[in-house]
Amino acid sequence: TPRIFSGIQPSGGLTLGNYLGAIKRFVEKQDEEFETIYCIVDLHAITATLFEPDVLRRQTRELTAGYIASGLDPAKSILFNQSQVAEHTQLAWIFNCIARMGWMQRMTQWKDKAGKNTQNASLGLLAYPALMAADIMVYHATHVPVGEDQKQHLELARDIATKFNHDYGVEFFPITEPVIEGAATRVMSLRDGSKKMSKSDPSDASRINLTDDADAIAQKIRKAKTDPDALPSEAEGLEGRPEARNLVNIYAALADQSVEAVLRDVGGKPFSEFKPILSELAVEKLAPISTEMARLMQQPDEIDAILSKGSERARTIAAPILKQTYEIVGMVS
Ligand code: ATP
Ligand code: MG
Repeated sequence: TPRIFSGIQPSGGLTLGNYLGAIKRFVEKQDEEFETIYCIVDLHAITATLFEPDVLRRQTRELTAGYIASGLDPAKSILFNQSQVAEHTQLAWIFNCIARMGWMQRMTQWKDKAGKNTQNASLGLLAYPALMAADIMVYHATHVPVGEDQKQHLELARDIATKFNHDYGVEFFPITEPVIEGAATRVMSLRDGSKKMSKSDPSDASRINLTDDADAIAQKIRKAKTDPDALPSEAEGLEGRPEARNLVNIYAALADQSVEAVLRDVGGKPFSEFKPILSELAVEKLAPISTEMARLMQQPDEIDAILSKGSERARTIAAPILKQTYEIVGMVS
C-alpha cells in the first residue's frame, strides 16, 4: 500500500494555514487507501529558535491535541513525536553527507528564516531539509501531503534520495510524490497578502490560531487587510488581488467548495458583507476543534501515552529501513 508521511513543527500554536494546508488533508487521507504516519517534528522546531523546555513540551502536547481534535485517529494513523524515534536523526546524518552545501543554501525557507546574518543562524536550520528528507525516507513514504511552501524541500528530498541511490548503485529510497491539493495550499497573512500565514510570525493579528475564540476570529477577519473593491463573480477577477484571493480561498477550503462556487454566491458583495459571513463559517468550523483541544489538554498523560505508543509503532517500520541503509553504506554491525 502507498504510505503517507507528514509532519508539523511544535514551534507555536496551530494556525488556520496549518489546518487547511496540512491537518485537514491528513485527516482526509487516513480514510483513503494509504497507510498514514503523522509526526510532531520537535527536532525541527528548535532549528530557528530555542524554547523554554516547558514551552516546547506544551506546544508538542497542544499540537497532538490539535491533530486529534481535528479528526486524526491514533488507531487509524501512527501519531508520534520525532525525537522519540532516533532513526530519523540517524538517517539524517547519512543524508547530511549526501546533500551538498549549495543545495541547502538555495532553499527559500533557509533564506527567509536565516535572515541577513546567515553566519549567526544555527547549523540545524541549514540542515533542516536533510532531516526532513530522512523523516520521509526512513519510512519509504511514497506520498507527502504538505502546503505549497514545502514543495521545494520535497524536491530536495527527492534529490537526496536519487543521489543516494545513484552513489551506491541501488534502488533503495523511493521517489516521493508531494501531495499539494485543495483551495488553501498557501494561506496568506491577514496583514500582508504577500506573506505566508505562519505560527512563528511575531504578529498574532497576522493569523487565526486554532485556539482563538469566536470574538478573536471575528476581530482578526474584520481587521484583515483588503482592497476597496467588491468581490468579483469569477475567479479571474481575483488576479492581482492577493488579499481578496486569500479570503475567498479560505472560505472555499473551510466550506469544501470550489472558488468558482463561492464566487457565484458572494460575487458583487463588498468586504463589509463578506467578512462577517467568512467569520461565521470560520467559527462554525473551528470552535468544535478548539473546544476539543482544550478538553484533551486537561489530560497530558493520555497525550503522552498516545505519542509513546505511536513512536513504538513508527520504530518498527523505521528500524529495518535504517539497518538496511547502514548495510548499503558499509557500517559494520
Ligand atoms: P513556522 O512558522 O514555525 O515554520 P508554519 O506555520 O510554517 O510554522 P510548519 O510546521 O512549518 O508550520 O508547517 C507544517 C505544515 O503546514 C506544512 O505542510 C506546511 O506546508 C503547512 N503550512 C504552513 N503554513 C501554511 C499556510 N500558510 N498555508 C498552507 N499550508 C501551510
Ligand atoms: Mg513553516
